[in-house]
Amino acid sequence: MSRVYPWRRTHYSNEITPEMDGEKVVLAGWVKDIRDLGGIKFLLLRDKEGFIQITIPRDEVSEDIIKLSEDLQRQDCISVRGKVRRMAKAPRGVEVIPESIIVLNRAKQPLPIDITGKTPADIDVRLDVRVLDLARDEPQAIFRIRHTALEAIREFLSKNGFIEVHTPKIIATATEGGASLFPVIYFEREAFLAQSPQLYKEQLVIDFEKVYEISPAFRAEKSHTRRHLAEFVSVDIEMAFAVAEDVMEVAERLLQHVCRVVSEKCKRELEILKHKIIVPEVPFKRITYDEIINELREAGVKINWGEDVPTPAFRILGKLHPYFYFIVDWPTNLKPFYIKPRDDKPEISESFDLMWHWIEIASGGTRIHDKELLIKRMKEQNLNPESFKYHLQAFEFGMPPHAGWGIGLERLIMVLTGIRNIREVVLFPRDRFRLVP
Ligand code: ATP
Ligand code: MG
Repeated sequence: MSRVYPWRRTHYSNEITPEMDGEKVVLAGWVKDIRDLGGIKFLLLRDKEGFIQITIPRDEVSEDIIKLSEDLQRQDCISVRGKVRRMAKAPRGVEVIPESIIVLNRAKQPLPIDITGKTPADIDVRLDVRVLDLARDEPQAIFRIRHTALEAIREFLSKNGFIEVHTPKIIATATEGGASLFPVIYFEREAFLAQSPQLYKEQLVIDFEKVYEISPAFRAEKSHTRRHLAEFVSVDIEMAFAVAEDVMEVAERLLQHVCRVVSEKCKRELEILKHKIIVPEVPFKRITYDEIINELREAGVKINWGEDVPTPAFRILGKLHPYFYFIVDWPTNLKPFYIKPRDDKPEISESFDLMWHWIEIASGGTRIHDKELLIKRMKEQNLNPESFKYHLQAFEFGMPPHAGWGIGLERLIMVLTGIRNIREVVLFPRDRFRLVP
């Protein structure tokens, strides 16, 4: 026998429509805001679908309700039984007149931040009380967009024949260079948190040909910027019998798809964030490293061939190319050991960065599939092939030509939301100075 709980809801806020005029409903959620106009009180009740106005007219409700509503405060968790009433002036044209209110839990007052967002608080103050901060409209919109984007990514990759895999996050050797590794104590040994699924996803093309992974990546980033986290989610693909150009096409079509889906499904959220998504045309522009060096020279910034592009120079490029574009043909020495040098010009690699204005969204390229060449490249980058012996053995098991990329999910969410600080698009961000909550 199931017990009857009087707080059990019958409807979510968004299910209440003016056509339900006169119906009895039970709603549950949190007090978002209260306005007292003397003879009448307006209470906004938030639940996971949005909010609804609970109207308390003094001369229409019981004395009990009036008394109880005097004590209600923002973020109190309540359940409201009441009658739906059509009301043109209320948000969405409908309100609920309460017949009983149950207080399920009171929030401690005063709250450390204003959840209506009318009095904005500094990001560090908000992140310290992140669970409360996430109740505000803006984060609610951001994380719905993040959810929708992830759904669209999975749908697209799955439809295009990729299977989702999960590779270890506790690993024995570095993939992207030793400097940004987090060591962990692994029983009696030292291990590291994975910086990327790179080596595993490459090996898996032997068995599954087209794989993707959406999982955390860890980087001990010393630089404190608005686009770097110590823990971020990486969307990775790897594809057999493919070269850089093939996976660039996957990337641009995927981004177009995600932009389209989010702009169609998340209209309300985008309105809250005052952001408009422009669905990009494909193909994206492809600009070579040599070309950007020339563009930068014309803009007064000198970069010698083979040098990396510093952030201020990227900002200039962002002005010249104000949307999505690829930078291709990077010097081999600027790319990781597993990226394939061109056969005709080994100083240039079959690699690309996918940019959005001045921000890097993804990196990828054709991979080396020849074991001896891979060992040579490791040595050139002062890596010890011995520590990659399990990776190298895969190259004896029929490694096909392959290519892939990694997209930083949070960077993509910044594009989709117009949010400028990456910490806002992660529930509980981790950076050099933040490990809690
Ligand atoms: P950047 O030059 O911006 O530091 P990267 O070239 O070091 O990035 P990659 O190793 O190419 O990064 O990783 C692939 C993608 O993962 C990047 O294009 C970016 O979108 C994302 N990414 C990398 N590092 C971080 C980080 N610390 N925080 C958030 N996203 C990151
Ligand atoms: Mg990169």
